[in-house]
Amino acid sequence: MSSDMEKNATYRKVLERFKILLPGIPARSNRGWLGYCTVVLFRLQNSWALFDTGHYSDRTELLAALQSVNLKPRDIKHVFLSHLHYDHILNLSLFPDAAVIVSEAELTYAEQVVAGRIEDPAIPEVWPALFEGREIQTIEGSTVIHDDLEVAVLPGHTPGGLVLFCRKPVAIALCGDVIKNGWDLLTDTATPSAMTDSEQQASTQNVIARAEVIIPGHDRPFIVREGGLEYLNDFTWKIQGNVFPRPRDEILLDLYVAEGFYQRCCDK
Ligand SMILES: [Zn+2]
Repeated sequence: MSSDMEKNATYRKVLERFKILLPGIPARSNRGWLGYCTVVLFRLQNSWALFDTGHYSDRTELLAALQSVNLKPRDIKHVFLSHLHYDHILNLSLFPDAAVIVSEAELTYAEQVVAGRIEDPAIPEVWPALFEGREIQTIEGSTVIHDDLEVAVLPGHTPGGLVLFCRKPVAIALCGDVIKNGWDLLTDTATPSAMTDSEQQASTQNVIARAEVIIPGHDRPFIVREGGLEYLNDFTWKIQGNVFPRPRDEILLDLYVAEGFYQRCCDK
């Protein structure tokens, strides 16, 4: 086998171990931010775990994605929440049997938002209800969860961003919004909700120093290469609408970008 083929086989294994149930979408419209986050399924000990859950508008798609791999919501025993923004947590109520893994700093932050001491409109007021009656495992600093899986708290996008690192088959990071998308990473332009730019940048650097494959919060998985990014998946995104008098169910957007290496082409 050539080394390229071996490498490709290794990256396929990454995506087999961490199955993207819902792909992250890096987009906004004139009607607002389209908060579609990456939802990832993986094995933890002898059961199934999710990293982030998505929110109400992709609930049907999440249930369908689980069904496509013959899983029911009750099969999910652990849910890792990268942070407590609505687009990552609102489907938690689908998984009543799951323990939640979240950072202590994020809980404190979200409590302060609900108490009106800090403003962050992306933290939903209902989040405490989602946590009621569940096992909650809080993380400070970094913790080895199991075997080669480690979670680390990396402030930036929010004070308690949780990143899941895995060592096999290569070093992988499930980032949540600590790294949202390829453009943010290449241009160092992530907009932190509550932290300083330097904290955000330090956390980004921490992730790329530790991980070869980056699974961002709102983009498809990639590897950082000299001068650009190598995406491991195709990107497809379709939007349909019923905008009378235009045709019913008209396809308004049908976007496809192939996997592979893309050079950064300009400064912005
Ligand atoms: Zn967020």
